[in-house]
Amino acid sequence: MNLYAALRAGFPADLDTLAIDSDGALYSWRDLIRGSAMLANWLQKLDLPAGSRVAVHADKSVEGLILYLAVLRAGFVYLPLNPAYQASELTHFIADAAPAVVVCAGRNFGWVSKLAFQQGVRWVFTLNDDRTGTLLDRAAQMSDEQEPVPRAPGDLAAILYTSGTTGRSKGAMLSHGNLLSNAETLKHYWAWRPDDVLLHALPIFHVHGLFVAAHGALLNGSRMLWFNRFDATAVAARLREATVFMGVPTLYVRLLQEPALATAHMRLFISGSAPLLLDTWREWQARTGHLILERYGMSETLMLTSNPCRPEDGERVGGTVGRPLPGVGLRVRRDDGEPCATDEIGHVQVRGPSVFCGYWQMPEKTAEEFTADGWFKTGDVGRVDANGYLTLIGRSKDLIISGGFNVYPAEVEGFLNELPGVGESAVIGVPHADFGEAVVAVITPAGQPDPEALIRALKERIAGFKVPKRVFIVDELPRNAMGKVQKKLLREQYAGLFA
Ligand code: ATP
Ligand code: MG
Repeated sequence: MNLYAALRAGFPADLDTLAIDSDGALYSWRDLIRGSAMLANWLQKLDLPAGSRVAVHADKSVEGLILYLAVLRAGFVYLPLNPAYQASELTHFIADAAPAVVVCAGRNFGWVSKLAFQQGVRWVFTLNDDRTGTLLDRAAQMSDEQEPVPRAPGDLAAILYTSGTTGRSKGAMLSHGNLLSNAETLKHYWAWRPDDVLLHALPIFHVHGLFVAAHGALLNGSRMLWFNRFDATAVAARLREATVFMGVPTLYVRLLQEPALATAHMRLFISGSAPLLLDTWREWQARTGHLILERYGMSETLMLTSNPCRPEDGERVGGTVGRPLPGVGLRVRRDDGEPCATDEIGHVQVRGPSVFCGYWQMPEKTAEEFTADGWFKTGDVGRVDANGYLTLIGRSKDLIISGGFNVYPAEVEGFLNELPGVGESAVIGVPHADFGEAVVAVITPAGQPDPEALIRALKERIAGFKVPKRVFIVDELPRNAMGKVQKKLLREQYAGLFA
């Protein structure tokens, strides 16, 4: 097998039809096949050792997607990196992953090639988002036919670094089999149709944009309306041409600020990667008539749970991430490993065909994150209701223990967000001599919030130990590229508050 071959099998019979429209640059299915063959032939010509990593630190482009397909075809390991990473970050990833090839944007070639060559990388090419760069120049001389290198389902296809929300990013090793099984599951569960049109506006260095969105369209032979960057006005204007859209919650928040949102042909709006506020979910329904389908997954496991797509699979419930996908085992456990009752909050553990092969070069860490009976500890805390729907409460690392009591930040945030004057909120624990940790809230304003009044209002609603000792107002919460709030940074910023 080869994941590329499996995706290719989903392309439509007429390969000359439109596959991707990137701001007027049109790519047929045949273009994707020929382009990836040429790039794969070039990679194969470099005579790289088996299992070589091809690291890609380039701006989003259709050619970047074609390069991903080429790496699969050639049987190497694709390693995407956020192009926003600067020298110190990139040095770490290159030292850790030891890629044989690095592809970067032309404007970064100077510093990227320097640090790559210093670390023994053999090849550095450039790829720009305007169809230029040395990689394409080299591939242009190659044949446009290539036989995908056969791979076993357990062979590595990609190493995907986690977002680094709770600590240093770890490289999740994903096999051809992991990726294909998840893509096939989503094909059926989300009822993809060949005539679907996916508006693709997510980055492709992350699981959401690459393994959920792009795989979905490719495996189903569905056309993509492609945006190299998310621009709310431009995306809102072209939503009318699409039937499927996938976004992180911030994208939905920004789209809601657009006066024109035409969604007449839309079949499915999907959200994931970070918690979608119930307010946003409701507002989206009021504006467009659509219930956003929220799903849950991670780099290490691909997609795990999803709200239903078809009515026969059940109702879409806002604020939950739905039920385990077919083939996924999911259980919630107490601190001592005992099973939780219905609605009881605990640690989410999973198993199934999409669970990764381990962290790159971290065998101890990998072993730590699996239970003795083989379940992966997601690091997320949640509860499952009587209908089997999972509600995520937060990350186990974000859990606050104040005066010996557990405080779940998401619960406090939920109450805060309902109060007048509060836009968004992040509740964190900071070191405190008496309590161990003290609860602190950081909010963005929606009006004129008064911290003391908010604290008083919370005291009427929740137990005293959960109420923040202090509330800080900031213009914006720190978020990473996927729109995830970086509580780690907030904790560092407020660490000395009670010192
Ligand atoms: P790191 O593991 O490096 O700390 P990360 O966990 O943010 O970073 P990813 O693998 O990109 O890296 O993200 C997976 C996490 O994203 C999940 O464990 C979960 O906490 C969060 N997540 C994904 N989907 C949702 C969702 N629908 N609602 C809430 N959280 C979500
Ligand atoms: Mg994680």
